[in-house]
Amino acid sequence: MKVSLANAMGTCFGVQDAIDLAMSSEFASDLTIVGELVHNPQVNEALKRNGVCLVAGIEDIKKIKTKKVMITAHGAAEKTKRLLDDAGFIVYDASCPLVMKVHQTIKSLVKKGYFPVVVGQKNHVEVKGIVGDLDDHLVINSEDDFRMIKDTGSRRLGIVAQTTQQADKVEALVEKIRALDYVDDVAFVNTVCQPTRDRQLAVHELANQVDLMIVIGGFNSSNTKKLARVCAEKGVEAHHIKSFHQLNQEWFIGKQHVGITAGTSTPEDVINRVHSEILNIAEKVEGMEKATLHS
Ligand code: SF4
Repeated sequence: MKVSLANAMGTCFGVQDAIDLAMSSEFASDLTIVGELVHNPQVNEALKRNGVCLVAGIEDIKKIKTKKVMITAHGAAEKTKRLLDDAGFIVYDASCPLVMKVHQTIKSLVKKGYFPVVVGQKNHVEVKGIVGDLDDHLVINSEDDFRMIKDTGSRRLGIVAQTTQQADKVEALVEKIRALDYVDDVAFVNTVCQPTRDRQLAVHELANQVDLMIVIGGFNSSNTKKLARVCAEKGVEAHHIKSFHQLNQEWFIGKQHVGITAGTSTPEDVINRVHSEILNIAEKVEGMEKATLHS
């Protein structure tokens, strides 16, 4: 059984920079992270062990007991940052520059007179940050949401994407919006970030070669779920796991080639642990299959 790793996978620079900042000794148990820094349970546990406090979001501002607070790689609205500032916290901003680029892009589209539309998940912290400073906006995720476009009464749309969306899906959706008879003008900037695109391309390539894919990442990680979806769309059996504990030997029986990929918030040590466990399972399964052949 062959085991291959995707050419691009795991932690992106935005997430890694944010983790490094949160783990740095200067905070010495005096830091609260506002919102999940990364969608990865192992990283969040490591942060807690380091004395870092976590709160779900700005709505939990009253629960913050530290002097220092951190905005996550997913970014936040200026309004949120000001609220923290005004409450007297020292604010550390770990917003990924590629998320900040989306904030700037949508604001500049609004200035040009376009109605702002985000392709993404309405309740995702990144999307809440992107739209948080806008007077009006729409978040859409599929064709089912097109009726809301009509309801806005706006015929000129400025569209951006959540950075972890599936790039080709976003483009296809925007093409359909352009064709709507109640839309005159679409200014579209595809803001899916390069690290996400690299991981999506790598999983496409690897899915063409394997008969089983293991996708590693937190169950609430949007980009990890999309990697698994790419495999499902190609008809490749895929299992989304968050750690090696969830590997099941039965998945590997009869398989020739196993691929491994991971979302942008999955750390290297988690990937390495899964990889070495898969190599062990592959060896065991091959041994069992040989024994059956000779019996
Ligand atoms: S997924 Fe992209 S936008 Fe998000 S933190 Fe990573 S590099 Fe930045």
